Amino acid sequence: MLYRELERDKSRYPHLADLLTALEAYLDEVLHRSVPNAGGYDHAAFDVVPILVAKGLGIDENLALVLLNRAEEGGVLVRQYHVYCPITDGYIQAFNSEDNLPHTIECPFEDRTEHSIDEYFVELVFNFSHTILGERDFAVSM
Ligand SMILES: [Zn+2]
Repeated sequence: MLYRELERDKSRYPHLADLLTALEAYLDEVLHRSVPNAGGYDHAAFDVVPILVAKGLGIDENLALVLLNRAEEGGVLVRQYHVYCPITDGYIQAFNSEDNLPHTIECPFEDRTEHSIDEYFVELVFNFSHTILGERDFAVSM
């Protein structure tokens, strides 16, 4: 099976088994995306975005998060918090934990501007873990 890490969860949470199978198929599609000039798996094309997973699987976002958390627990995915400028919508920086989100962040898009944690926009995104990326041979050059 593709994601051994999730197989255990299927027997542990039988009510989620079908959805976990659907998630595996979804992740596999993302992982094998052909992205010309992506330059590696940091490219946004390989981001696993909860709302897109929800749409892809035809479920609500909360349930998508439950599934993605299982995949994170199983070492398949890692989470990132992407911080965006509230004025320009530009991507500023990623953090690996909610606790690491800075109180204020300097904006690279606006002169002498800082955004506080109450102002800037945060998006939760999942990426494939090094374990998963390291185990596979890829068409994408790193
Ligand atoms: Zn800004």
